[in-house]
Amino acid sequence: MTTEIYLDSNATSVVLPAAIAAAIDAMGQRYGNPSSTHATGLKAKVILDDARACAARLLGVGQGRLMFNSGATEGIQTAVLSALVALRERRDAGEAIGSLLVYGATEHKAVPESLAHWNRLLGLNLALHKLPVGHDGVHDLAALREVAPQAAMVCTMAANNETGVVSDLIGIEAVLAQTNTAALWMVDCVQALGKLKLDLSSTRIDYAPFSGHKLYAPKGIGMLYVRAGAPFTPLIMGGGQESGQRSGTENMAGIAALGAVLSALERGDTFRTQAELCAFRARLADSLRAALPGVVFNNPFDKALPTTLNFAVPGLSSRELMDVFDAAEVRVSAGSACSSSKAAPSYVLDAMGLPLWRSAGAIRMSFGPLADEATIAAACARIERCGAALRASCLIPSERTAVPHDGLLQLGVEGACSWMVLDAASRSCIVIDPLPDHVARIESYVRCQNYQVQAIVSTLPNAGRAMLIEALGRHFNRHADADEYGWPLNAAAGLVLENGSGAASIKLGQQVLACVHCGTGDELRAYLLGTPQGATLPAASVRFAFSAHPVQQALHAVSTAQTLLCPTRDEHNQFCTVAAPQATLAADAQLDRSALDAFLQAHPNARLVDVREPYEFAAAIAPALAGRVALSVPLSRLAEHASGWLRAEQAPLVFFCRSGNRSMKAAQCLRRLGHQQAYSLSGGLALAPPLPLAA
Ligand code: PLP
Repeated sequence: MTTEIYLDSNATSVVLPAAIAAAIDAMGQRYGNPSSTHATGLKAKVILDDARACAARLLGVGQGRLMFNSGATEGIQTAVLSALVALRERRDAGEAIGSLLVYGATEHKAVPESLAHWNRLLGLNLALHKLPVGHDGVHDLAALREVAPQAAMVCTMAANNETGVVSDLIGIEAVLAQTNTAALWMVDCVQALGKLKLDLSSTRIDYAPFSGHKLYAPKGIGMLYVRAGAPFTPLIMGGGQESGQRSGTENMAGIAALGAVLSALERGDTFRTQAELCAFRARLADSLRAALPGVVFNNPFDKALPTTLNFAVPGLSSRELMDVFDAAEVRVSAGSACSSSKAAPSYVLDAMGLPLWRSAGAIRMSFGPLADEATIAAACARIERCGAALRASCLIPSERTAVPHDGLLQLGVEGACSWMVLDAASRSCIVIDPLPDHVARIESYVRCQNYQVQAIVSTLPNAGRAMLIEALGRHFNRHADADEYGWPLNAAAGLVLENGSGAASIKLGQQVLACVHCGTGDELRAYLLGTPQGATLPAASVRFAFSAHPVQQALHAVSTAQTLLCPTRDEHNQFCTVAAPQATLAADAQLDRSALDAFLQAHPNARLVDVREPYEFAAAIAPALAGRVALSVPLSRLAEHASGWLRAEQAPLVFFCRSGNRSMKAAQCLRRLGHQQAYSLSGGLALAPPLPLAA
């Protein structure tokens, strides 16, 4: 048992213990080939026959076909191929077949992709037509009524994988009947299995694909129902298994496991009732409302399966929510599983007409009908933990003022960035090159830590500052007039730099920010941050220099090789550089998990550095890595700490994060800066051995 709480059942589910036992039995005791006529084969064949008979009863297959296959993608393929081959034959025979392949706008990608593929391969040249859904995610039946007379095939799902929204199959069937269309009808039943009552042969549904791994069976096993009399063409030809409908020796372990799940469903003694599942959803929703102020649910609960919640939180990206949940060992997904690494807006939520922030910021939390009381209670506690971590990190509003940070903060680490120089003692800060995208984040950060913003300066003239000034309200020091760079006209003049030149500066606690004119015509400015000695700012005291473009030439005489250059355009994701960067040795910077303990023993002074964001660090429930306390230095604070590490005696630094991706960037950055003993823990925390369940 681990601390993990798995709430991503619509992507795939755990495997039912009885299903694992059945698979082991099929591989161990009853390993025969069900096509063999000897006793060993016959023992295996019983598994196949029993599973099929059980499925046929449960789904109301009647006289229709029910074949086992590898999963829903194959089932969809077979259904589309069967329908399109028949349509081509009918058209070749001179029949009118319609001109449209109609599919719901929220279908799984397997549906439109298969339609387009087979339409092209078979040379049918029918037009693909997306059927709209309403704000509730339910198909627009009026739109269906309009296109049904021209439809050759109609594809709709029984329940959606991202939202759990249940289709009005009775309504669709009525429209198909009223419009007198001969269209073939496929219903993707993947998310409905075990959650909705199905009696397929009493409907006009021609094809219904199913997938085992969405309901407690393993991956790689599925089923396809084909109505008696509906056209059928095998996708795979060969030895004639599955009555010639799907050749290839059967996946007996998978079939045995799926059979065990189906028989549990039929017995009705294993899975939760609808009412119990609705109560679980209500508890999770209440916890989300309490922990994440302003949370909105993207799926209408009254029209959706009780096992799926889909939500967004104002001001938070799905990436941030995913990360904080993952740190708390709660597995959820961003929109749909396929797009979670990209965190692209969800096409399902877009089709429902939701605003971009809700579609791009969506999180799906899904559980299965096996969910238990203890897991839901634990999930609610973890949701509260995530809310607290986000509040403490100023990502969501909090009634209490957070502990102020000190030093340098980099916002938006991909591509372009804004910087904040923070002084905790005086609760004041300076913002450098704020980007419009960062206005809301800077504003909530400033309010939450109750800072006074002394100045908002930019490295190029006429950069927009008005939006941020407006947003900051009383937190911005409006007393001083500023030039077109936002530089206060009353900034103290007369600070002497290393090369003897004078500069204007703003005081921030013990430090100063000095303004340096660079480039021809003074169009570019750089800012130096350091601790002055009286009225001078020696080069060795300049820790950071900020500029939009490389300005080494201009800084040469006023800073040192250890001054970190903080770019406000960071296309290459370097965070910060030095005037003469060192080469990176990427391969050598990877530290394997298995070598970590020995490495730490050999280097007792090594520091373990967790580069996940503060809210992930705060939400984490994993005990310390290798029994050591790690330092929390998110990438947004890397420049600040890098400056200190480079100036101190160099001790090995072992960066880690969830996957090894962010820690690799940190290690490469430090190596470029000249710290040769920076390492990244490859594979990250995700590949660490499972943790024992906390008491
Ligand atoms: N249809 C729906 C609604 C799904 O959720 C999925 C899986 O994500 C599929 C089809 C594809 O299923 P399989 O993974 O079995 O190919």
